[in-house]
Amino acid sequence: MSGFISKLTCMKCGRDYQPEQAETYCEACGFHEGILDVKYDYDAVGKVFNPATLAQNSDRSMWRYLPLLPVRNPELIPHLQVGWTPLYAAPRLAEELGIAHCWVKDEGRNPTASFKDRASAMGVVKALEQRAGRITCASTGNAASSLAGFAAAVGLPATIFVPQRAPEAKVAQLLVYGAQVFSVQGTYDQAWELCMQASAEFGWYNRNCAINPYLIEGKKTVSLELVEQFRNLCTKLPDWVAVSVGDGCTLGGVWKGLWEMQRLGFIPRAPKILGVQAEGCKPFWHAWKHQGILEPCEANTVADSIAVGHPRNFGKGMRAVTESGGAFITVTDEEILASINVLARKAGVFGEPAGVAGVAGVRQARKDGIIAAHESVAILITGNGLKDIQSAIRAAGRPISIPPDVEAVRKALQA
Ligand SMILES: *Cc1c(COP(=O)(O)O)cnc(C)c1O
Ligand SMILES: [Zn+2]
Repeated sequence: MSGFISKLTCMKCGRDYQPEQAETYCEACGFHEGILDVKYDYDAVGKVFNPATLAQNSDRSMWRYLPLLPVRNPELIPHLQVGWTPLYAAPRLAEELGIAHCWVKDEGRNPTASFKDRASAMGVVKALEQRAGRITCASTGNAASSLAGFAAAVGLPATIFVPQRAPEAKVAQLLVYGAQVFSVQGTYDQAWELCMQASAEFGWYNRNCAINPYLIEGKKTVSLELVEQFRNLCTKLPDWVAVSVGDGCTLGGVWKGLWEMQRLGFIPRAPKILGVQAEGCKPFWHAWKHQGILEPCEANTVADSIAVGHPRNFGKGMRAVTESGGAFITVTDEEILASINVLARKAGVFGEPAGVAGVAGVRQARKDGIIAAHESVAILITGNGLKDIQSAIRAAGRPISIPPDVEAVRKALQA
């Protein structure tokens, strides 16, 4: 399976590594910039991976794409079902947003209720392949609860670092799955640095998506699915794919999957990518507007999953938007909260703030003329709404409190 990997290439200096040689980052460039990209022998992949072989494949999970995944030993794949999440046509949402067609892909349907499961599933396979004794990550919340779930599924101990402000539901998930949890008195960026130090110090397997090149390979499966799902609908791919951006791993994965499907001849041309950031934390947007230069910034947004002031996968994230001919856009917290209701009411899908930021981003991009009225968009809903109930209540308010009395109902109806 990982027989198809030809090499790992450093995003910064271009140096090549053999798969056995490098497990994490380019030693010459260090982990801040020396992020590796997994390369495959696509001609060889194409012989076993094409529309005909996929049509024969009954696996309805991310593992149906095994020839394009870095798995040496498929027996180590965890039993939880990840991927093959539903893609819904959302015509009322399209009308609301002023675009021709809209689809939403509900990633909240994954085992721990976020998109992060695609990466965690890959992370535990790689950790088991290396016979790691413990796995670790730092996370705004979802990567943590996801890793905790997958570590539990395969019986691997996990140590997790989350910032103090991680929403309670996510922290509860971590503890329920039995992970050792450090709530760091600081920001996500500080939790990330601490996790890096601790994993070096104590020899734990590091799931941090930016420095572990294999995890983005899990994330890219969302796009492999998108291509297949649109194919099954006999519909051409939309003009845009919209997704929220924190560290940039999701963005990078989304683009890699689309790029590969183009390379393998499934699609003539990949969609443009819309990267959505919060107004209170927009380092990608800023760099995109200013010659691609990254300036780490404060992280102030209700969308905790994208409250990342120092994005750790900057290169892959930027490449996604520039190579696809897409754009970055920013949205306010008010627009994000409003989008929780809009998505739920127009498409029946309940997302957390970062999960619905893509919806807000499409509306803004339409206003700014980045997306045209005749264009179509697929929006990735990256996390389930139950992850962050406080934000949902802020968005939707409280119920009407009444005594158990029909007259009270009548009065309330008239009010
Ligand atoms: C992690 C996350 C993102 C952003 O992914 P990055 O790889 O950090 O850019 C978006 N939405 C949700 C719900 C997430 O958990
Ligand atoms: Zn390098």
